[in-house]
Amino acid sequence: MRSTKAVIDLAALKHNFKTVKAIANNSKVMAVVKANGYGHGLVEIASALPEADMFAVATLEEALSLRKADIKQAILLLEGFFELEELPIIQQQNLQLVLHHQSQIDLIKSYQETAQIKAPIKVWMKCDSGMFRLGFALDQVESAHSQLSQLNIVEQPVKLMSHFSSADSDQNFSEEQIEKFTNATKEMLGQRSMANSAGILAHKRAHWDWVRPGLLIYGASPMPYTQGSDYDLQPVMSLESQLMAIKPITKGESVGYGRHWFADQNTNIGLVAIGYGDGYPRHAKNGTPVWVNGREVPLVGRVSMDMLAVDLGSDSQDSVGDRVVLWGKELPMEKVAPHAETIAYTLCCGVTRRVKFEYINGYS
Ligand SMILES: *Cc1c(COP(=O)(O)O)cnc(C)c1O
Repeated sequence: MRSTKAVIDLAALKHNFKTVKAIANNSKVMAVVKANGYGHGLVEIASALPEADMFAVATLEEALSLRKADIKQAILLLEGFFELEELPIIQQQNLQLVLHHQSQIDLIKSYQETAQIKAPIKVWMKCDSGMFRLGFALDQVESAHSQLSQLNIVEQPVKLMSHFSSADSDQNFSEEQIEKFTNATKEMLGQRSMANSAGILAHKRAHWDWVRPGLLIYGASPMPYTQGSDYDLQPVMSLESQLMAIKPITKGESVGYGRHWFADQNTNIGLVAIGYGDGYPRHAKNGTPVWVNGREVPLVGRVSMDMLAVDLGSDSQDSVGDRVVLWGKELPMEKVAPHAETIAYTLCCGVTRRVKFEYINGYS
């Protein structure tokens, strides 16, 4: 059988969670498991983290999948809710909500009139400190907060959050965001959260009550020119396949669709059973590192749907069937991503359903 697989190391996941706990030692940790646990498997990842104080997801469907799998921790919906009909489900399932817009406050006000279920709704008021994505503008924060404070159905005090736009790259701007969030909420009582993975590494004073790591728990670094191992993190996903053919090529011949690579000397080409149909990025350029038998060899030619080619070198000793690692412990995602003009996030999120997932080092 084609051996293309993603091996998910649950011991590495637990290790990374501990590392985050140690970095943010005065905060609670909500593990971000949106987008199918960054492509690692939503339920498998959450089930392996009983230590997590909370989980964060993007959609109601993701939250309900966790509840169906008997995950007991609190779950935060990072985009809040979209329709009135979701509110009773949110109450019944003990989900928490991010509120970022007046229209959501209006819906909760009207819901309160008729609500059958009295369980308090736990909300996080999101402040836009400079990302200009979701969140109340700084001059609306007070009004939104006072409206929410008057709603009986909302648990008090309302919790407060914001989000960094560039904690991986622009520390002056991040400091400004921290100032703005601090000032806009200084009279308010609720628990606070601001730091994503990059914020956790770069801004201790923004850890507040809750940190929100995504990428870190999967073992990758969000900081440019660094790898997870620089922060005592271990890659959780290993994307692997094998050599399915090896063939000699003479100087001047080309490899793959569109003839994007020409051999400048006689060499051996290895065909690897993985392609963009498995989630390996088609944009990966000539020279993208691929791990084979203890060394990195360069990708050559365009990535196809089901396979890709590497230059094994003229004195290659490799055999058909040998293990190949596209990213993982032997070759961090952070090192591969720039060759495809992307970031580690999209690599792990993009692994497709055709790839077999194997979970190792879990204990249950
Ligand atoms: C996705 C997300 C996170 C996690 O981001 P990482 O960079 O992966 O740590 C945190 N907070 C919010 C609001 C998010 O949407």
